[in-house]
Amino acid sequence: MNTQLDSKVPAGALEEKWTKHRAESKLVNPNNKRKFDIIVVGSGLAGASAAASLAEMGYGVKCFCFQDSPRRAHSIAAQGGINAAKNYQNDGDSVYRLFYDTIKGGDFRSREANVYRLAEVSANIIDQCVAQGVPFAREYGGLLANRSFGGAQVSRTFYARGQTGQQLLLGAYQALAQQIAVGGVKMFPRTELLDIVIVDGHAKGIVVRDLLSGEISSHAGDTVVLATGGYGNVFYLSTNARGCNVSATYRAYKRGAFFANPCYTQIHPTCIPVGGTYQSKLTLMSESLRNDGRVWVPKNKGDNRPPSQIPDSDRDYYLERKYPSFGNLAPRDIASRSAKEVCDEGRGVGPGGLGVYLDFAEAIGRLGEKTIRERYGNLFDIYHNITGEDAYHLPMRIYPAVHYTMGGLWVDYNLMSNVPGLHVLGEANFSDHGANRLGASALMQGLADGYFVIPSTIANYLATQLGKKVSVDRPEFNATENEVRKTVAKLLSIKGKRTATSFHRELGLLLWEKCGMARSRESLQEALQKIPSLREEFWQNLNLQGGDMELNQSLEQAGRVADFLEFAELMCLDALEREESCGGHFRVEYQTKEGEAVRDDADFCHVAAWQCTGTDSKPVRNVEPLVFENVKLATRSYK
Ligand SMILES: Cc1cc2nc3c(=O)[nH]c(=O)nc-3n(C[C@H](O)[C@H](O)[C@H](O)COP(=O)(O)OP(=O)(O)OC[C@H]3O[C@@H](n4cnc5c(N)ncnc54)[C@H](O)[C@@H]3O)c2cc1C
Repeated sequence: MNTQLDSKVPAGALEEKWTKHRAESKLVNPNNKRKFDIIVVGSGLAGASAAASLAEMGYGVKCFCFQDSPRRAHSIAAQGGINAAKNYQNDGDSVYRLFYDTIKGGDFRSREANVYRLAEVSANIIDQCVAQGVPFAREYGGLLANRSFGGAQVSRTFYARGQTGQQLLLGAYQALAQQIAVGGVKMFPRTELLDIVIVDGHAKGIVVRDLLSGEISSHAGDTVVLATGGYGNVFYLSTNARGCNVSATYRAYKRGAFFANPCYTQIHPTCIPVGGTYQSKLTLMSESLRNDGRVWVPKNKGDNRPPSQIPDSDRDYYLERKYPSFGNLAPRDIASRSAKEVCDEGRGVGPGGLGVYLDFAEAIGRLGEKTIRERYGNLFDIYHNITGEDAYHLPMRIYPAVHYTMGGLWVDYNLMSNVPGLHVLGEANFSDHGANRLGASALMQGLADGYFVIPSTIANYLATQLGKKVSVDRPEFNATENEVRKTVAKLLSIKGKRTATSFHRELGLLLWEKCGMARSRESLQEALQKIPSLREEFWQNLNLQGGDMELNQSLEQAGRVADFLEFAELMCLDALEREESCGGHFRVEYQTKEGEAVRDDADFCHVAAWQCTGTDSKPVRNVEPLVFENVKLATRSYK
């Protein structure tokens, strides 16, 4: 296990690093590729694209997911689009500009070299997806269309109406299905990873549970690739699919992989407000809507008139007022905080005053309802189905909600964690978004990792592993399986009174209040005090129905909640120790008079990578300094 953080960023000019690295990377010859077995956990955009590409190259791939089909991965929910520096609009875009926007958007808390590579390969992703038949929106003349997303002043977002993730996932799934058909990939749906097996310090396998039969078994491989998505559901209410969880990455952390920046979570400004305590999920209204929708609240506190009766002079288009250059397309962290601010001032709209308007009246007047329908029809339908309101004639009501997690397992430039052989892709790693992800850049990163980065970099590890194959007969597999069985049995034996959902809801509310959009030393210390007691109660008072050798979704959920209950503490600890505000991490003690985030570059211009030292002892905070050679560290301004 490496406890030194070596990012392995290649030397040389920024623009040449990736080309040079690929040229200098190790190769595995075609005959030897057949000898290697790669375990890919996850079949969302990152996992499906990686599994298909690696199998296409000749490696033997086993791919696992907990859904009944790879097509149901959470990636399918992505709505708004995917960025790429194609400059089709001729509006001044370039690889450098996408790189710069992403570094600045992340509040200067990501690695220059990784982000530049991401911007570089973004154009290839679009070509790859078009070749697969992904139906991106097109202009009248047939060229691919673009729209704008937050944090950018160019239009570089490719989209397929409001269902870009679905179309991209169908593309990746076709590539995966083709490889399943020819035997390159063996697919294991309805199978959940419950632990990683470490042999002689290397990740050499996994322990899984068949979710239909309950059978627990092991799989050995020459390397393990985790593409298991993000952990936003630690907050219980989020825009993530209900199944999203931290278990795979957290269990890898407990086996030695460092967890980087766990406190970096993204709160998305445009979600349908919470409707009641019964709710189990929140719904995103894509950021793309801010291309045409204008965000406002009444100027005066207590103005309860219906929106149509509030004249322009009594409205506060607060994003346009505060950030004239970016206006409604201010980045997510900034737009979310501004919404919270106006609601805290008592100017929020809708039930409980926790909402702001997103108004299309002006755009409909300018472009016509038909155009707005064509651009965002399915989003307006979702809004109507949930709220019963017609947003073509009434402004939408929106409020910030947990949406994405920038933190994740620490990886080097090859996307390998500090545990040799354990690679991590997509939202599961910490890599490219710093403290705040810009809109339409998660799909870009997941597909960059899967289609373009890991196929080149994985050989740097595998080439060192020829002749070192391990099998499930090694005692490490048996030992890990036994630990997994013990945990399952323990969960089922408690026979208490509370459901896993009730613990999860309580944890989520606590985190939202104490470690959500605003955090303070006091609130974090309070959360750190309360989480262990909640965890203790969980292990004494959990009520689980059913048994282990059957389909048992309560058992699946309980395992995930158990991990959230430990992980939440790590999040709060990370948030407490990062004594600055940056991106989505807003510590109330560190802000300007106008409420903008105040970074501390002297003390915190680094990645915090947490090392597990056992369940009952404090983890160690390791640090990877971030070096900026190509951009100047500056105060982020969107004014
Ligand atoms: C509503 C919504 C809209 C979004 N819209 C956009 C957008 O327009 N543009 C954009 O760039 N980003 C968007 N995002 C973000 C983006 O969708 C995600 O970041 C991205 O899809 C994550 O892809 P992934 O492959 O890393 O993980 P996922 O798609 O979450 O896939 C995770 C995979 O891991 C598997 N898995 C997880 N744990 C286990 C386990 N223990 N055992 C076995 N398998 C496991 C799952 O089965 C699944 O196959 C949106 C997010 C949300 C919530």
